[in-house]
Amino acid sequence: MAATSRIFNFSAGPAVLPLSALVRAQRDLLALPGVGMSVLEISHRSPTFEEICFGAEADFRKLGGISDDYAVLFLQGGATLQFSMVPMNLLRTGETADYIETGTWSEKAILEAKKVGRVHVAASSKATNHDRIPAPEELAFSARPAYVHMTSNNTIFGTQFAYVPEVPDGVPLVNDASSDIFCRPVDFSRFALTYAGGQKNLSIAGLTVVVVRRDLLDRAPADVPIYLRYAIHAKERSLYNTPPVFGIYVLHLVLEHLLELGGLDELARRNERKAGTLYDAIDGSGGYYRAHARPGSRSLMNVTFRLPDEEREKRFVKEATAEGLDGLKGHRSVGGIRASIYNAFPEAGVDALVAFMADFQSRNG
Ligand code: PMP
Repeated sequence: MAATSRIFNFSAGPAVLPLSALVRAQRDLLALPGVGMSVLEISHRSPTFEEICFGAEADFRKLGGISDDYAVLFLQGGATLQFSMVPMNLLRTGETADYIETGTWSEKAILEAKKVGRVHVAASSKATNHDRIPAPEELAFSARPAYVHMTSNNTIFGTQFAYVPEVPDGVPLVNDASSDIFCRPVDFSRFALTYAGGQKNLSIAGLTVVVVRRDLLDRAPADVPIYLRYAIHAKERSLYNTPPVFGIYVLHLVLEHLLELGGLDELARRNERKAGTLYDAIDGSGGYYRAHARPGSRSLMNVTFRLPDEEREKRFVKEATAEGLDGLKGHRSVGGIRASIYNAFPEAGVDALVAFMADFQSRNG
């Protein structure tokens, strides 16, 4: 299929990648320039791969403004493994970890933490089917939490923190940024640990990135298995064992692209424009389309909305797919439509969706 025949991919993840990264990966798949082999076939100990891996780390630090007080780790196991690794490394016997419950993924993180230690839910949006982010004054922390865990963007419900929570002095703040990392400027130094599955804003499935403050590395009890210890990956710069080489390579291509675009300020401008266009279309539809997330909590990355009834929602998805707008079916816990518009999603795709929405409403009002 020619590049020009690509359709608009609204998938929540794995998700659309920058075209330039795909074209480079396609070109390099038979032979990296000057190497004669592809990245899939060379040793992770080779100078060529070290250049890719350390280059990706350097670009990641540059884009995020991340200091050397933090280790940037390229791991496997998805964000899901981090639900376990975070408490296994940071929650010791007798301690309590605080979790802000804002959706399915934070619920899953809580379940894993409970296998390791005590959990206190500092605030929850469950009562209203996670249609909002708790306000700062709702956060009720326990006396001395080992850490506070949040999910900056709730992929399924389409909500996103518009603020960084103030945690008690010295308490590490941990963030699952799987679905909004690098969508706008963020001060990584406000977080002790940030993690993200690769398959949305960064790269492909199989790569998970962890940004962890070095002073936390030694907290893991001695019986935590070797792969699950942040310290070993930090010491070996993600090369303790064979890392997800292709994911790291694609990450490097994506980061180069994002830096060329102008970095996080420019990404924020684009993302705000895209999400703004879509929310305006929803809010301006006279109630035909209804956003799930309340104003003030709405995500720049996953826009969730309903139609007047399920029958029309089904038809909407079917007809949109036929018009080259793919992946719009909402998650079953919200229903309706979910348009995921990550960094690599083109503005033209949002314009096409908005035009389709107006046309659909006029035919099915
Ligand atoms: N956290 C969030 C916010 C997510 O969106 C997802 C996946 N959609 C996960 C965690 C789980 O990620 P993974 O499939 O990489 O384990």
